[in-house]
Amino acid sequence: GGEELGKCESRIMVFVRVRPMNKKEKEAGSRCCVRIVNRRDVYLTESANENDYLRLNRVKGRHFTFDASFTDSASQQQVYSTTTSELLEAVLQGRNGSVFCYGATGAGKTYTMLGTVESPGVMVLAIKDLFSKIRQRSCDGSHVVHLSYLEVYNETVRDLLCPGRPLVLREDKQGIVAAGLTQYRASSADEVMALLQQGNQNRTTEPTRANETSSRSHAILQVGVEYRVRDAATMSIVNRVGKLSLIDLAGSERALATDQRTLRSLEGANINRSLLALSSCINALVEGKKHIPYRNSKLTQLLKDSLGGTCNTVMIANISPSSLSFGETQNTVHWADRAKEI
Ligand code: ADP
Ligand code: MG
Repeated sequence: GGEELGKCESRIMVFVRVRPMNKKEKEAGSRCCVRIVNRRDVYLTESANENDYLRLNRVKGRHFTFDASFTDSASQQQVYSTTTSELLEAVLQGRNGSVFCYGATGAGKTYTMLGTVESPGVMVLAIKDLFSKIRQRSCDGSHVVHLSYLEVYNETVRDLLCPGRPLVLREDKQGIVAAGLTQYRASSADEVMALLQQGNQNRTTEPTRANETSSRSHAILQVGVEYRVRDAATMSIVNRVGKLSLIDLAGSERALATDQRTLRSLEGANINRSLLALSSCINALVEGKKHIPYRNSKLTQLLKDSLGGTCNTVMIANISPSSLSFGETQNTVHWADRAKEI
């Protein structure tokens, strides 16, 4: 809309969420190497004799603090309310916001974003909350909510709500759009869970593990909110459009280790490219650079209008508590710690 928005610094908030230890990790007799204190501080302990977290205050590189940190007993609702609910107000005002889940495969990204039917995640809770906020204020104008759900896999963009041929990215007046992407007009939150579950089924799977979503797949849910109201003084129509992007990123372990030889390596390199491109954009934003390298990957092109500017960004770093994943956990937490500098 042509309406002048108030000047608002872009802002990033960074969170860490530990998932419960799973059966395999317990059976292997692995130790818990993550401790969360005061709902903010994260202590990583590699070996058993470091277990006294008070002593750990003196161990460098093992203590981190975030906007909030969630233990394995945090509920989906707690995670949603703390990380994302604030962004909705801004989206209703016509600003954009984005929420990313980052971490190794199996660390809990999809659980956090999509969740299960019994415990819906951020995507579903956000849409529920959006409809309830709209109901509270609908007396003075009308809102239209559109959803799109797509995948970036091997630098190819696919519509998860209507699987078929890859989509081409085009630049138009609204920015970069995936041509032909389904815009689903949603009228209630209840229909959305089924829609997203179905969409998630359409994500690319590995040929060798037919039921498992590829760890190289990024999924982006975009929720566009259009608000129209007639300005009482001028009688002109005021039209605002805000967008919330919710992103279940590919496994971050691929960004660290890629095999150059096989076909898999091409995919690995591309995932690497998308994640690296995302990191460089974020770094450029932190440093207040004029040029933000959005063009370097499909992921960052698609998110061009949802990163920086007047956008608010939320990063949720997902980690396993088990000593079996200590290396990945350390990498994820270090990365989250850097993102915080923004
Ligand atoms: P990722 O998407 O990062 O690869 P998933 O979200 O699929 O990982 O999580 C791996 C497994 O752990 C799934 O079976 C998921 O249901 C479970 N899980 C992850 N986080 C939690 C949590 N906070 N509480 C309960 N189960 C979880
Ligand atoms: Mg997943």
